[in-house]
Parts: sequence; structure tokens; C-alpha cells
Amino acid sequence: MNGDEVLARLAELQQGDLPTHGGRTLAYVYDSGLAEVDRVGREAVAAYAATNGLDPTAFPSTLTMENEVVGLTADLLGAPDTVVGTVTSGGTESVLLAVQGARDARPDVVAPRMVLPSTVHAAFLKAAHYFGVEAVVVPVGPDHRADVAATRAAVEADPERTVLVVASAPSYAHGVVDPVTDLAAIAAEHGTRCHVDACIGGWVLPYAARLGRDVPPWTFAVPGVTSISVDLHKYAYAPKGTSVLLHRTPELRRPQFFASADWPGYTMLNTTLQSTKSGGPLAGAWAVLRTIGDEGYLELTRTLLDGVDALVAGVREIDALHLVAEPESSLVTVATDGTCDVFTIADELAAAGWLAQPQLTFAGEPPTLHLSLSAATDVGAFLQALRSAVAVAVERGPVAVDPGIVEFVQALDPAALSDADFDGLLAAVGMVGGEDGPGLPERMGEINALLDVASPRLREALLTAFLDRLARPARRT
Ligand SMILES: *Cc1c(COP(=O)(O)O)cnc(C)c1O
Repeated sequence: MNGDEVLARLAELQQGDLPTHGGRTLAYVYDSGLAEVDRVGREAVAAYAATNGLDPTAFPSTLTMENEVVGLTADLLGAPDTVVGTVTSGGTESVLLAVQGARDARPDVVAPRMVLPSTVHAAFLKAAHYFGVEAVVVPVGPDHRADVAATRAAVEADPERTVLVVASAPSYAHGVVDPVTDLAAIAAEHGTRCHVDACIGGWVLPYAARLGRDVPPWTFAVPGVTSISVDLHKYAYAPKGTSVLLHRTPELRRPQFFASADWPGYTMLNTTLQSTKSGGPLAGAWAVLRTIGDEGYLELTRTLLDGVDALVAGVREIDALHLVAEPESSLVTVATDGTCDVFTIADELAAAGWLAQPQLTFAGEPPTLHLSLSAATDVGAFLQALRSAVAVAVERGPVAVDPGIVEFVQALDPAALSDADFDGLLAAVGMVGGEDGPGLPERMGEINALLDVASPRLREALLTAFLDRLARPARRT
């Protein structure tokens, strides 16, 4: 194939993906709706695709861009003069490094633990898994915010071993901001770090405050907050692959840096998990931040939050739906009154070209639909689709899983299942690999309803088995 044919094939492959632009994909992607911003971001990524951010003395422009991006982020958050930061590949890497840094700042602690409200992003559980830091998970209150008294009790149960307390601003699943002031005070009282995960809200909340909305304190203005993560590839509308991890002081950041001269090659020096890293995402983020600019973000946030208001008003008029929490940023989470289920609504929305993300039953709370709005989202059109989807879902009634199957599923012990068992189970629920991408039925309602009655361990095991079977090399022979 010549170059043009290759690119044509890529474009053809991409046709099968969800749209990244247009504001109809209400998770995974974030669209400013500004064509010029996309063009500049794309061209910057391309210009730096081959540049290696591993060594800023070889590629000093990457250091210049990184310092400017971190500076803009620190300015936006009103950070103190002592603040330092690092551009990472995404929210998960920022979170991993926040946990790794907290652990390695305390080499005296043999079995470190961190206290997490149950609504923190699963990236913290991944960090616990990777770095051997015990996750002490504290159930949140009925308002879905961290329970301050329970968090205090969890820290005080073993303050010596506690290396980190985490708060979300806001949480992904419910879109509410934790009581950061109280959580950071508890951490400070015990000489423990406090990380605020503002991966999804960090670029929205400062502008929301400037637009006169009520935003509870969550930045470095709160005493005791030691680090903050903010993704640029979410609401800074940058191309995928950038997040910023800020630390209040250089001393707090130091354990994050890894140096090794214990090999015959160059002295390796890394600030992130990656070593060789493309300059593309950094250049893309730098370019997008400059193109949109402070006033641009203020306007985009105004559009975004006006959209949230309109969506909230619209949801209130739909009998079968209610808000799980009053949105505090750009995330809206809805649940049903039981006359229909969110899975059928998601299927109906998908058929109409909208992606809404189902969230399964958790800790006794019924399933919900997660909606991350974008500045580009046409909320009027979405509400129309939502009303139709709910009408169909109510007419059909909730997906009923046969009680016998519920009992069977709930009796399964994922640890005791063989590969052959998983093959059988996946086939039985219609999750089978196909030639052209994931072998999932058009409608996910039945599968989601079944996963919803499964234990978290079984959900993990089934989806892992599914992905394992999808991820197989395409060989020529
Ligand atoms: C998205 C998100 C993350 C993880 O970020 P990725 O960029 O997907 O790795 C962490 N925390 C919160 C609150 C998020 O919304």
C-alpha cells in the first residue's frame, strides 16, 4: 500500500469508532467545538511526534513547554510560589506518582496505607496494587461526599502507617466535591500528605468560581493540601496524553524522581513512569492552552455550565429520572425510579447516536448513567433523545434477569473458574470476539443487567476474560 492508501485504510478503521467530536460522546472524549483548536493541537502533536521528552538537555523545547504548561496550571489554581509540577501522560499516571511519592517519602514505614473515600477513581486502587500501599476505603456519606468523621477514624486507627489521604474535586461517578478543607486538616494534623484528585474538574472549577458559581475550597489555598492532579486531555480540551501533577513544594516532589547510574548506559533520570516519551502530547497541550487562552476557557466553561443547568432542568421534568447529586461541575449522574432501567436508556441513546455511560450497582446504590458534558454538546438535542429513550425504556420496563440466572451468577466464585468456564460464560451472555472489533451485541441491556447482579470480583473476571480473548495478534500466517 502507498501512503495515501494506508491513511485511507486508517480513516476507514476509524469509522467504526465513537465520534471524538460533536459533543455526543458523553464519556472518554471532551470537545471544545472549536475547529481551530483541534487543528493547532493536531499539528503540534504531529510536529513533536518523534521528539523524545526523556532528556530536556537534548530537547530543551520540551522543558520550556513543560514549565509553561505547569506554570499556567499553577496560575489557574492560584498555587503558592513554591509550587512545582510535572506533565504526565494522563490522570492515572498522575495518581500513580502521587501515591508512589507518598510511599517513598516515608521509607521508615514498612507497610504503608492510604485512606480513600469509596468514590475515588479506581486509579488509586491500581496504585495500591502496583506499589503495595494498603487502600483503606471509607464509605462516603449519603450525599456521596467523603465522610469526615469516618475518614478521621480511619486515619487515627493507624496514623503511623498512613502516608496519604485523598479527596476528589469532583468525583468521577457522582460529580461532587469532597470536603477538602476537613480532609486536608486531618492529614496535616497527622503529618500525612493530602492529594486532591482534580483530574476531571481541575480545569472547570476555577472558571466556575470566576463565573460566580459556588465552588467549595479545594486548591492549594486549603492548608494541608500537598498535591493536586489536573488532566489536560479532559476539560483543557487538549489532545489525549497529558495531565499535570502539582506538588506544593519541590521537597514533596523529590521522591517522584528516579535516577539510576547502576548500569553501563547513560545515567537514567526520569520524572515520570515513562522514560522515552513522545513530545507530541506535551506540544499538543501547550498549543491548545495557548490557542484557547484564559478568556477562551472562561467562555467555554460558561457554555458548558449553562448546558449543565439546562440538562438539570430537563432531567427534573422527566418523571422516571432523578439526579443522583446536584452537579458541581460538568458531570451529571442520573438514576431511575425503577419503572425502567438505565441500561435500556443507554441502549436507546446509543441507537440515536449518543454515548451515555452506565455505572453498575455499587455499595447498595442502584445503577446510574454518567454524563460528562462538553462545551460542544447540544443539550437541547440530547434532552430530546433522552426523553425518547426514557419513554421507550418505561414502555419496555426494566430488563428482567431470570431469578435462576441471578442465583447461578451470584453463586459463581470467579477464582474457581477455568478458562473453559469463562469461554462458556462469555458465549452464554453474548460476549464473543468477532473479526472486526469487540464481539458485543448492538444492545448491551441484557449484558449490563447481568453484570449488575454479579459481584465486583466476577465483573472484573468476566471483563478481563473478554478483553483477553479480544486482544490476540492479527497474524499474516
Ligand atoms: C479520568 C480520571 C482519572 C484517570 O485519568 P485517565 O486520564 O483516564 O488516566 C483519575 N481521576 C479522576 C477523578 C478522573 O476523572
